[in-house]
Amino acid sequence: MSENIFITEERIDGADDGPLSGTTVAVKDNISTAGVATTCGSKMLEGYVPPYDATVVSRLKEAGATIVGKANMDEFGMGSTTETSYFGATDNPAAPGHVPGGSSGGSAAAVAAGEADLALGSDTGGSVRCPAAFCGVVGIKPTYGLVSRYGLVAYANSLEQIGPFANTVEDAATLLDVIAGDDEHDATTREVPLEGDESYADAATGDVDGLQIGVPTELLEGADEGVVETFWDAIADLEDRGAEYHEVSLPSVEHAVEAYYVIAMSEASSNLARFDGVRYGLSAGEASGDESSGDSAAAGNWNETFARTRKEGFGDEVKRRILLGTYALSAGYHDKYYKKAQDARAWVKQDFDEALEEADVLASPTMPVPPFELGESLDDPLQMYLADANTVPVNLADLPAISVPAGETDGLPVGLQLVGPAFGEKRLIRAASALA
Ligand code: GLN
Repeated sequence: MSENIFITEERIDGADDGPLSGTTVAVKDNISTAGVATTCGSKMLEGYVPPYDATVVSRLKEAGATIVGKANMDEFGMGSTTETSYFGATDNPAAPGHVPGGSSGGSAAAVAAGEADLALGSDTGGSVRCPAAFCGVVGIKPTYGLVSRYGLVAYANSLEQIGPFANTVEDAATLLDVIAGDDEHDATTREVPLEGDESYADAATGDVDGLQIGVPTELLEGADEGVVETFWDAIADLEDRGAEYHEVSLPSVEHAVEAYYVIAMSEASSNLARFDGVRYGLSAGEASGDESSGDSAAAGNWNETFARTRKEGFGDEVKRRILLGTYALSAGYHDKYYKKAQDARAWVKQDFDEALEEADVLASPTMPVPPFELGESLDDPLQMYLADANTVPVNLADLPAISVPAGETDGLPVGLQLVGPAFGEKRLIRAASALA
């Protein structure tokens, strides 16, 4: 595949009939598939084959879907371009020569290229919405707790949710209907009553008459001019259909990127400790191919083997985050970084709650910039982190959001993000379906 969309191409058939029979789905490679390799885009898990299915995969199978492959991604979900994958970058089918966004870049590209009807990604700080925006497709980040994380390899578990991609809002909502809901394997999930038996897909009516849209001014500041223009064109389109907008302020979002990265890196340093070459991950002896130095962890020096395994198995971005996260959590610095970040998280939540008292949904560009050219951003991690400015606040606040195509600037896709109150997915689906 020229675009390098899949890490593993393998067909997994579902039940004979169900709401998704005849539908193909690409699954991000950090979501466990029994008997089919799940690498997280990392050398550390090359060849790892899970013994069980993630809950979302069991639900896809029960719904009759056909899984067509495991989609490429930034290593362990850490990135916004899919370029940190050990298995190489993915090209953007909607804008060749540009990144597909990340970290679920392969999933979005699969839908954009027509390699799958639907796809699943995971969104810790924007990893469904960013690639949806960059590839010109629809992506939903559900409210924290709506979708089971059982079988999702954790990056930053207090922030992430699995979410759907599709070409239309209605199709993304159909996939959400299949994966959403309480799971006994994930204690953070809950059953959300569907008012009036209406499914998420049923909510895709495109009716925005009387919808009150709040536009947070902070999320437009510093954004690319062409992106901002395309955003306002989409808002004007919604106005023509009966929606109204007013500006709102979210002063706390100025601190969201720094708070997000402290929390995400801290959780990552803990979650990734299991890749030690004994419980999970390549064993350093195998990795170096050097028999004489391949003393196993059981027989040799634990610290040396652990260090060698992680040196060889993890890429630079993952190492950087484990180091920074370990530092942020260490005694003496905990209050200075982690605790402060948690305080900022609470403030962001409060800001969103207040803004949503005066608006039904909040709207912004999904990404402040159009897709980068391949290779453009990798040398500058800080630039990459700052591009997440509009998506990470939503994860800090545990809220649902959708990215829907808004148009193009210089031939490059632009996404519009709508954010709603907790478990307000239907409201987002109703509004976004006016655009796609
Ligand atoms: N770009 C963000 C990060 O690198 C978000 C990633 C994600 O949502 N998995 O952490």
